[in-house]
Amino acid sequence: MGITGRIRAFFSGLFKKKEHPLYATCAFCGERVYLPFHCEYCNKYFCDTHRLPFNHDCTNIDAWKHRPAAPARNRR
Ligand SMILES: [Zn+2]
Ligand SMILES: [Zn+2]
Repeated sequence: MGITGRIRAFFSGLFKKKEHPLYATCAFCGERVYLPFHCEYCNKYFCDTHRLPFNHDCTNIDAWKHRPAAPARNRR
């Protein structure tokens, strides 16, 4: 990937973050949460309790289980 691809990835990452709503309803328990967690595997929002795929019965949990070991920069 050249520099153009990297810049594009950087900006798409920015815009992706911007799309997150300030408030959302947890797709699992229905609780209204401030700054919800987004599950990239099923593309839904969850509260702090249900943010992990195995906590919200993720429809794409297989992909989560087989995900590559992520570097520790994936924090909020
Ligand atoms: Zn919840
Ligand atoms: Zn999920």
